Amino acid sequence: MELSNEAPPIKVQGRIAACEGDNNPALGHPIEFICLDKEEPAMCKYCGLRFIMLYSRTAAMFYSLVNKFLNGFAMASNTQ
Ligand SMILES: [Zn+2]
Repeated sequence: MELSNEAPPIKVQGRIAACEGDNNPALGHPIEFICLDKEEPAMCKYCGLRFIMLYSRTAAMFYSLVNKFLNGFAMASNTQ
């Protein structure tokens, strides 16, 4: 793995990246939706392009807070 030679990840607004490999559909691959919930870049399984959420740190913090809240709520409602 030579990570240092790879292009920087493509910044995407929102949690989901859509990758077709190339702007020309004849050169690309079936559209692949990639979830960007993690802090590190997510890689397209077809072409290896990497994507990362714009504002990833803030959004990750926000989603972890939401998950904590939802988990706490689920636990509280399970015990009753
Ligand atoms: Zn791709």
